Amino acid sequence: MIRSALVGGVALAALVACSTFTPSQVTVDQYVEDARRIAGEDLKFLMPVCNPQPAVRAAPSPAMDEMLAKLINQPPPEPGQAFDNLYYVGSAWVSAWVLKTSEGLILIDALNNAKEAADLIEGGMHRLGLDPAQIRYVLVTHGHGDHYGGAQMIAERYGARIVASEIDWQMMETGLEFDSKLWDRPPKRDIAVRDGETLTLGDITVRFMITPGHTLGTITPVFDVRDGGRAHKAMIWGGTSFNFGRDMGRLDGYIAQTERIRELSSKWGIDVPLSNHPGYDGTVAKLKARTTAAPGSNPFVSGQAVVDRAMRVLNTCARAQKTRFQLTAQAGAGNIYAAEMNVQGQMGSHNDDDDHIHAGILAFSNTYDAQPMSFPFSVNAGAPVGLHVNRAP
Ligand SMILES: [Zn+2]
Repeated sequence: MIRSALVGGVALAALVACSTFTPSQVTVDQYVEDARRIAGEDLKFLMPVCNPQPAVRAAPSPAMDEMLAKLINQPPPEPGQAFDNLYYVGSAWVSAWVLKTSEGLILIDALNNAKEAADLIEGGMHRLGLDPAQIRYVLVTHGHGDHYGGAQMIAERYGARIVASEIDWQMMETGLEFDSKLWDRPPKRDIAVRDGETLTLGDITVRFMITPGHTLGTITPVFDVRDGGRAHKAMIWGGTSFNFGRDMGRLDGYIAQTERIRELSSKWGIDVPLSNHPGYDGTVAKLKARTTAAPGSNPFVSGQAVVDRAMRVLNTCARAQKTRFQLTAQAGAGNIYAAEMNVQGQMGSHNDDDDHIHAGILAFSNTYDAQPMSFPFSVNAGAPVGLHVNRAP
């Protein structure tokens, strides 16, 4: 008895002496470990989302332009067909999807600029036997230049209407979060959609889910796809990475929305998880695999269980990042978080342009359960559902 008590005391002393292993850092590591386990092999392309993110959003700079140029100038993949009514005409970095209906085409995202849109979207469509003149709508999933850059050119050339969320139209009109000389100017305001609204063109209806996080008005479109006689339900997760800096409101939004879409994907039977960046859904490999797939099998049909896991991976990574920012705040570097948390002697400067950070603070006392965020145009969000992530013993 005495011996084991002594051993326990020594172990505790060692743990206390080792300052890097605070319980909160253990929490971060546990989240990342959870995410990795949930991702397994087939979803491991999502794991970069779990990497630590900077507290400050990248400002326009020659270095950012250089990085973007590298991403844009990668050799593009072959354009291809994912379903009877869904085609890929994107680059190696950013996606552009063409949804075919009985009364025209819907282009989902328009790449970085008019030149790239002409080369890859128009060029790819011609190679696939699609006529760009049939584009009726251009959906901009969120207001970052890699998705809207070619939109105005396509709209003007073919008389198409441009669809984005109200909140991202506002952002594109009054204050871009990111900018680069490699991106063409944002499109002129056109159709604004709200959470849960639908667009029907011919035989296809697209439902727009506003999933704030990556931007405040990110759209995740949900629509039917067909493969032979089989119908499937697809969604394109509209914004993936946490490149917005230390913004707890956004992380709370992201956590809530991944939970909401996870729940809806079960209710609606979403079995085709897609992204607007091919690196986050394995598009290029799947397009290749589809050309040799046996009749009746389609590598893009992952199943509802995989959609569920993908949402849990993103959710868990968002929780890891939120905890990292909390840790920094507790260390005294997080100014207003430390102040709001009543941490003595750690009052820092107040960052006035981050109004919605205050909303994130409300969720502070509860690390594990997401708080519902009443973002504009997301009134149908409802209460978030707990994820019940199984923790390793
Ligand atoms: Zn983006």
